[in-house]
Amino acid sequence: MPENNIVPGGGLDESAHLHDFTERLPGVIFQFYRGHNGHMHFPYLAGSGTSLLGVDRRQLAHDARYLLDRLDEEDFPRLMAAIERSARYRLPIATKFRFRLPGGRCRWVALRAQPEDADSGVLWHGLMIDITEQMAEEARLRKLSDTDPLTGLPNRRKLINRLNEEVSLCNRHGTPLSFMLLDLDHFKQINDTWGHLQGDQVLTELGTLCRQVLREEDTVGRLGGEEFAVVLPLTPMVRCRPLAERLRQRIEAHDFGIEPGQITVSIGLAEYRLGEPRDTLIERADRSLYAAKHQGRNRVVA
Ligand code: GH3
Ligand code: MG
Ligand code: MG
Repeated sequence: MPENNIVPGGGLDESAHLHDFTERLPGVIFQFYRGHNGHMHFPYLAGSGTSLLGVDRRQLAHDARYLLDRLDEEDFPRLMAAIERSARYRLPIATKFRFRLPGGRCRWVALRAQPEDADSGVLWHGLMIDITEQMAEEARLRKLSDTDPLTGLPNRRKLINRLNEEVSLCNRHGTPLSFMLLDLDHFKQINDTWGHLQGDQVLTELGTLCRQVLREEDTVGRLGGEEFAVVLPLTPMVRCRPLAERLRQRIEAHDFGIEPGQITVSIGLAEYRLGEPRDTLIERADRSLYAAKHQGRNRVVA
């Protein structure tokens, strides 16, 4: 015996049940129409998610603009391009976008829709689901996998990704790029003398110092152990070298809570040469660092 809230297979009052059912769906189901003249509207919209949109369904039945106007600025052109592609090649849409709620907050929405030919236009059948919580969780996990737990700096993986991005920008636009490798001097001795915990504290403070001295656009990361690296976009060697020198001096002068002047770093620099592989840039910086160590440490070599 079907209960009140179960849609019967072919009962007498099927449309009322169906209406009841669609209104309870935890999302939005819709039909979306775009005429050849460009006009867009939602002939059908249902589901409990429609109340979340905070837009009058009757308005949307005439004009989709009331909803499209509320999309995040970054996502709007992407969604329009997806609609265009879907209309042209009759391919399904699978995308996500941010939707601005009254009061400035944003919700992430996943959208799936299937197009078909309609009178003087295209008609999509689709659904939207609120994925804000999943997106937040994804962002949290991404941050976790990109971050060095001790210093809170980007880890090797993240830093190399950043370097890859900057190398391709350089090759595309011919802009300068510098890379810095930084290694603590005689750190084993620091650990042996002051203990590993104090050593950890030095690494953390060093990360903070780097971030203070360098610019917002520069990415400082911990490559591992007592080795750090910095990606400096739009920076030629003539500007990178004084910056590295200032950083070296700041570290030498900083009070790490142990004997002053005990903590120093050697820094190796390299400027990107158009077309060279990323690893060649890293190797050149590494050779500079090796030279800095060889020449007596606590210095910058390019
Ligand atoms: P150099 O001037 O030639 O770089 O000498 P160094 O002693 O710094 O270099 P070495 O590679 O011999 O030793 C690196 C030391 O860094 C050894 C290790 O105990 C220490 N170290 C690496 N990772 C950590 C860490 O996470 N915490 C602490 N406290 N020490 C670390
Ligand atoms: Mg070292
Ligand atoms: Mg080292």
